[in-house]
Amino acid sequence: MDIKNGTRSALIVGAGIAGLTAASALRRRGWLVEIVEKDAEGTSAGWGLSLTGPSLRALDDLGLTDRCLAAGYGMSVVTNTAPDGAESTFEFPRLIGRDRPAMAGIARPELHRILRAEALRLGTRIHFGLSVSRLGLENGRARAELTDATTRTVDLLVGADGIRSAVRDLIGRPTPIRYHGQQVWRALIPRPGWATGIHTFAGTGHQTGVVPISPSQAYVFLTENDVRPEDEPAPRMEDLLASFTGRAAELRSLVARSDSVIRRPVRTTLAASSWSGGPGVIIGDAAHAPSPQTASGAALAIEDGVILARELEDRPDVPEALRAFAVRRGERCAALVETSVAIAALERQGRHHESYPLIEACHHRMALPA
Ligand SMILES: Cc1cc2nc3c(=O)[nH]c(=O)nc-3n(C[C@H](O)[C@H](O)[C@H](O)COP(=O)(O)OP(=O)(O)OC[C@H]3O[C@@H](n4cnc5c(N)ncnc54)[C@H](O)[C@@H]3O)c2cc1C
Repeated sequence: MDIKNGTRSALIVGAGIAGLTAASALRRRGWLVEIVEKDAEGTSAGWGLSLTGPSLRALDDLGLTDRCLAAGYGMSVVTNTAPDGAESTFEFPRLIGRDRPAMAGIARPELHRILRAEALRLGTRIHFGLSVSRLGLENGRARAELTDATTRTVDLLVGADGIRSAVRDLIGRPTPIRYHGQQVWRALIPRPGWATGIHTFAGTGHQTGVVPISPSQAYVFLTENDVRPEDEPAPRMEDLLASFTGRAAELRSLVARSDSVIRRPVRTTLAASSWSGGPGVIIGDAAHAPSPQTASGAALAIEDGVILARELEDRPDVPEALRAFAVRRGERCAALVETSVAIAALERQGRHHESYPLIEACHHRMALPA
């Protein structure tokens, strides 16, 4: 192995946000990188997401922030409307300079397109419709048996395979996934002219809001309380919006015309002990998946990819670098997941206004260097 000549090799499982980011960050430091992605086309689930300041700051490290801003919708303010109609605003910390927005809304397929194009441009090989079936060790390196009956022996094995991570189990870190009695609805709509930032609306039972993802598009989110994952699909999203008034009622008529409505359970996970085992490590949602309310899961995933590559830079001992990575990331990620769990609990009790300070504290904490 010759670190300076870039002959270290990595196999990344999962071509999601964490895996693609890690691939580009490692390629920039000379690693040979292959990704295996179980989906045939590596599609991204869902319509859109918020790239908060920490995401944009980490993407800047890869030179991708301006591409994301151009493909999405830059903004800096969230306006929260309480059940009695009272509005409060919060300005997101500007982490990439005063001349650029604090954050961006972006369509998930756009973000994936940008991350994938960059990974490929830098020379990452991505194999779709492929996964890992067994992991072992060979002279301290990771030996991965793949589902097409081929094997790879690499210096680094990265599990970036999401909340249901198979790698997490394969490296001996089984972790429970928690369900929080909530379902999150998303609908793609034309962007209302007044939605130039994020707007949230707390109802008596549920919480809704709108996030612009381009000059012409936005998505409406709605968090439904007290649903079990096995329950029959709830009434359509527009029925849940029936009790809202004002601008939120306007969203209802746009949702009624949307043919892009999805529902996802609110789940979290947090691998409590070390995220690594020998030359294997888990990153992104595989290690720490917060609930969507903090809009920060992608930020943690992107930071993980960038920081993993930094920790491995110039370190000949991969397991030691991975342990250092997990120590460096552990507290920040655990705090975010636990805060997101507390926010979900407050929402379930209809105490939305008490969740706003927690969400703000979360964004201030995430603004600190990763
Ligand atoms: C409804 C909802 C809304 C959200 N909104 C936001 C938001 O606004 N802002 C934000 O920052 N975060 C948000 N998040 C969180 C964010 O989506 C996640 O934190 C982020 O996608 C994590 O990225 P990841 O790459 O770790 O995992 P994933 O995005 O889940 O990617 C994992 C990849 O691994 C692949 N894979 C899985 N298993 C295997 C296997 N065995 N072999 C090979 N490949 C495999 C999957 O197909 C997938 O491509 C939201 C989450 C949800 C559920």
